[in-house]
Amino acid sequence: MPQKIYGILKQYWGYDEFRPLQEDIIRSVLEGKDTLGLMPTGGGKSLCYQIPAIIKGGTTVVVSPLLALMKDQVDTLDSNGIPAAMLNSLQNETETVKVKIAARRGDLRLLYISPERLMGEIDGLLREMNISLFAIDEAHCISQWGHDFRPEYNRLSVLKKYFPKVPLMALTATADKLTREDIVTQLAMDNPQVFISSFDRPNLTLSVRKNLNKKQKLSAILSFIEQHPRQSGIIYCMSRNSTEILVRELSQYGISVTAYHAGLSSRERETAQQAFLNDRVQIICATIAFGMGIDKSNVRWVIHYNMPKNIESYYQEAGRAGRDGNEAKCILLYSGQDVATNKFLINNSHDNPDLDDDTLEMIRKRDLMRLKKMTDYCNTNGCLREFILGYFGEKQDKPCQNCSGCLGDFGETEEVDVSVDCQKVLSCIYRLHQRNLSFGAGVIAQILKGSDSEKV
Ligand code: ADP
Ligand code: ZN
Repeated sequence: MPQKIYGILKQYWGYDEFRPLQEDIIRSVLEGKDTLGLMPTGGGKSLCYQIPAIIKGGTTVVVSPLLALMKDQVDTLDSNGIPAAMLNSLQNETETVKVKIAARRGDLRLLYISPERLMGEIDGLLREMNISLFAIDEAHCISQWGHDFRPEYNRLSVLKKYFPKVPLMALTATADKLTREDIVTQLAMDNPQVFISSFDRPNLTLSVRKNLNKKQKLSAILSFIEQHPRQSGIIYCMSRNSTEILVRELSQYGISVTAYHAGLSSRERETAQQAFLNDRVQIICATIAFGMGIDKSNVRWVIHYNMPKNIESYYQEAGRAGRDGNEAKCILLYSGQDVATNKFLINNSHDNPDLDDDTLEMIRKRDLMRLKKMTDYCNTNGCLREFILGYFGEKQDKPCQNCSGCLGDFGETEEVDVSVDCQKVLSCIYRLHQRNLSFGAGVIAQILKGSDSEKV
């Protein structure tokens, strides 16, 4: 068997070695065991079900919420001579019928399907097929603990009931312990083998730049681009509007850049994405709408124009840099305003009508806690990698020497000791009998600066 899987790795992908845990996961699946695999973004999850799909008889059914990824993978597999197809809402009736016929005839090695479609076919098409494996991609979407819960994933819990004999494989880049346990429970996995790979991506240089205003952010980005000519990069922004603005600003300097966000038509998005994937445009300024399931291996840097709402999201987005394993840079431009904006978004999100008030409250609290951790990441002076890995439950022996914390590279920020000033403020408030509420910060400042205003 080992020769066989190495042979396939070489024959179809041209690789000589497996990445950490790929081989273990593949073996476990080939032995017919339920298997849970946790790997960071870019760790190489797809191979973990694609290789078994080639070796096993029958069809591997891959459940994924990411339509762009499905299309990409099906095209690639097809062009490598591995019969694969997909069923999702992007197709018309004729295409659907064609795929179903092929699936029934057992012509497909892999069938990619969206969770909605899967539920629609669970008593129909799927029963008529010879299914060798269910692979649930982005499996954290099934957990309300996860940072990306999707109600349509909830219904996958019936898979085991309908197909008790078919092994289940779940894959995710979320390592959070509660989420992990929840995936196993929700999918009713049978005594699963669990493989957790290290979330460390040593080729990524992590850095945080603090408290830059708009102008400073722009000049930081410009000088970075200048120092990294012709390198492919992604700039993530919090709002659609800011992606557009940034594109206009950067274009003025002759930089090759395009925008991507959910406000564009699907045609415009497709055009932007293709231009970036094929290196016809160097940089893409995007909201989080961009990137899920995109496999561009030579992204050399990812800049976050704003701080994301949690470390899971940050690491997933930043992790789109350096998938080829070569050096890449991940820079987060942090400002205190991002905390307020994120808090506002968390406190005002009611996007899940299926959940009761208590659950929503619990989720809100959890999201605020996650935001706090994200903020702590931006404010730590220690090793950033140690912080992230610690967050995912991993211990690093020593500082990485490859992050802004370790390298003492804090950009324009300088450390100033303001203890005495703080003492003065507090002591002033104290002497005003702590009635700072009725005086306000302005008055306190005036007093301390010796203003001769009437009020003082
Ligand atoms: P994930 O889904 O975990 O984010 P992918 O499955 O998309 O990651 O793989 C990320 C990249 O790594 C792809 O370009 C893939 O071809 C490459 N890759 C996967 N396994 C290997 C390997 N064993 N050796 C070299 N490259 C690999
Ligand atoms: Zn470090």
